Amino acid sequence: MITSLKRIVQEVSKIPVLEEALKHLTSSIKGAIGVDSCSVYLANYEKQHFMLMATDGLDSGAVGKVAIGFSEGLIGLIGQREEPLNILDAQSHPRYKHYPEVKEEKYHAFLGTPIIHQRKVLGVLTLQQKKKRRFSEDEEAFLVTLSTQIALEIVHAETRGFLSFVDDNNRDKWQRKISGVPGSAGLGMGIGFVPHFKVSLASHVAKRSANKELEIARYREAVNITRSQVEELSNRVEGQVPSDVQAIFQIYSHLLDANSLGHEVEGRIKDGWDAASSLKYIIENYIQQFRNMSDPYMQERAVDIEDLSNRILANILGTDSPDQRPLDVNQNAILVAEEVTAPMLAEFSTMKLCGIISVRGSSNSHAAILARAMGLPAVMGLSDAPLSLLDGKKLLVDGYSGEVIVSPSESVRQEFNILVTEEQELSDRILEKAHLPSVTQDDYTVSLFINAGLSAEMENTNFTHGEGVGLYRTEVPFMLRERFPSEQEQMTLYREMLESDPHKPITMRTLDVGGDKPLPYFPISEENPFLGWRGVRLTLDHPEIFLVQIRAMLRANIGLGNLQIMLPMVTSVSEVNESKRLIKQAYHEVSEEISDTGKILEMPKIGVMLEVPAVIYQIPQLAKKVDFFSVGSNDLTQYLLAVDRNNARVSGLYDSYHPAVLAALLSIVEQANEHNVPITVCGELAGEPGGIILLLAMGYSKFSMNSHNLLKIKWVVRSVTVKQSKLLLDSVLSCDDPWEVREQVNQYLESIGLGGLVRAGI
Ligand code: PEP
Ligand code: MG
Repeated sequence: MITSLKRIVQEVSKIPVLEEALKHLTSSIKGAIGVDSCSVYLANYEKQHFMLMATDGLDSGAVGKVAIGFSEGLIGLIGQREEPLNILDAQSHPRYKHYPEVKEEKYHAFLGTPIIHQRKVLGVLTLQQKKKRRFSEDEEAFLVTLSTQIALEIVHAETRGFLSFVDDNNRDKWQRKISGVPGSAGLGMGIGFVPHFKVSLASHVAKRSANKELEIARYREAVNITRSQVEELSNRVEGQVPSDVQAIFQIYSHLLDANSLGHEVEGRIKDGWDAASSLKYIIENYIQQFRNMSDPYMQERAVDIEDLSNRILANILGTDSPDQRPLDVNQNAILVAEEVTAPMLAEFSTMKLCGIISVRGSSNSHAAILARAMGLPAVMGLSDAPLSLLDGKKLLVDGYSGEVIVSPSESVRQEFNILVTEEQELSDRILEKAHLPSVTQDDYTVSLFINAGLSAEMENTNFTHGEGVGLYRTEVPFMLRERFPSEQEQMTLYREMLESDPHKPITMRTLDVGGDKPLPYFPISEENPFLGWRGVRLTLDHPEIFLVQIRAMLRANIGLGNLQIMLPMVTSVSEVNESKRLIKQAYHEVSEEISDTGKILEMPKIGVMLEVPAVIYQIPQLAKKVDFFSVGSNDLTQYLLAVDRNNARVSGLYDSYHPAVLAALLSIVEQANEHNVPITVCGELAGEPGGIILLLAMGYSKFSMNSHNLLKIKWVVRSVTVKQSKLLLDSVLSCDDPWEVREQVNQYLESIGLGGLVRAGI
């Protein structure tokens, strides 16, 4: 049976139109099990009914016509109970309801199972037989297994708009909401613009060529042209985007300069293939290798390689890069692509861009980073939404909720317009108060720092509003290279960072690789990377890496003195002892090296991240060893709740508002205060309006966040009192579940006029 099951699912998934796929499904199941009838009903939540969508056995004229109410008949009962129903004689069941149109009078035995995806009943799958009999356990198990797999196909079809609730004539007029993930907060409205590449590696058909010299010359010429095009695009956005985004263009240049790529392509040309086909062959192999990597950051690089190669291909073939259709530059546009890339954004920077939709990608991808830096709302990961559905259509992008509305009705558009205007008013008001101190209404002073590195946008304006850098994630420069950066390279980088504001403290975290951040040149293969060789665990096992980094930091700090060093993923006191020993060793080495220069080497403050739950119970011991603490609420949440922070399947369970996380945060700050150790929160929670209120109430007063959130958080701080916040905290600490906490926090934000910070509108 397992083979028929696999075959059925595979066949069904290949049929693009849902109705046809379901028709095929019912016939295949009927044949595989040998029953008299198989049917599928799909739920329509708007109309509160199940619609017969396909059948092999009932009257085909009833398809798309017979609707069974959610609380009606056996189909409704299966939906309500969310479990299979196996009965000898359907017609004698008390919930049986007769629908004459389906013509099922001849059937008695009945087996139905709900089709469920992420706790939502999408439909019901039924088998019927003339004979009175109970279906076997095997048959029941087969149907249940099949329905779990079919659920995904239905979800995909729903996203693609292939549901027949909308009749063909109305498809274009139909307003459709598609959900993705928020990539960059904000609201945007415009016409969907999908840039089309005239050529692409994927569709290029391989050809042979005997003229090797000519093909090599064509390839080299194309690479040169592409190099200058990339340079021009990079110059176009220079100064408008943060340095880590500008670095994407450097990756392109590195790839273009890579000798190995050129050798491989030219090797293939020498084997008798033309330049374009050789490029296709080599690059497709590379792309596959990158896509197969477990690290999301490295997977993202496949997009860059593909984009760049399409550009080279266009130059080999002598066509334009993206097909620049005539654009109305005054029209508000939403850039839509399978994968939005940084050069693509640079290319269309002359358009009136109001938002970005990237069908693939996550809030971690470069497109999202760039969108945030450019202040453009973005929605990512609209899996399976076909580009044709969005191209040329009016689109509304809600970067708060991660939703896109296609072809919105006039009334929805008007409502959205009001929200956009309100949003602008709100950010103007926030900006007006940017220079004011971050003090609560009851005179409680709060210090706000920024997080820099991984995805933090070093926007100068916000940097000046912060009191320094609370977390500099040093792993990025390590990830962008093909080998460990040398001490000198690191020193230059850190110096630049420390000099960016020599009067403000800059907290540099030692290398936190491992987990979801492996280095391409230092592969780690582990069953559970988040529970494995990460952060200080890894660097203590490799003192040569740790010492070089510390020496670079200490040397960068000479004459400045604003460096603080922070250790990630600390689990035990011995790790702090060992790290401090190595830091002292590096300090003595560098001191000796500069002894005849007359310069003085300062010993920086040393702190630890509190992000592994074990340290909640070791604060008194740690307090004796370090100068400061910083709470990593992202990992603390992940480890306390045992929820992988990157796993989309359990993302609903990852919530820093979980009462257990709040209790841990409270205990941490109480203990830190008792032992007089300064403490900061540097996880994402500190950058959330609700989060900061709860943290303030607990007794935290230093926060470090994405620079993008800093002014918004200052606005929140200036709008609340610690006294009121404490009342809210008392109330949420007694909640059972995170959603209750969120509800109360959001209600509170609404009550003090800050609701506009967590949803569209003011
Ligand atoms: C954290 O875990 O909260 C944190 C700030 O570190 P990262 O997100 O880099 O793991
Ligand atoms: Mg962390």
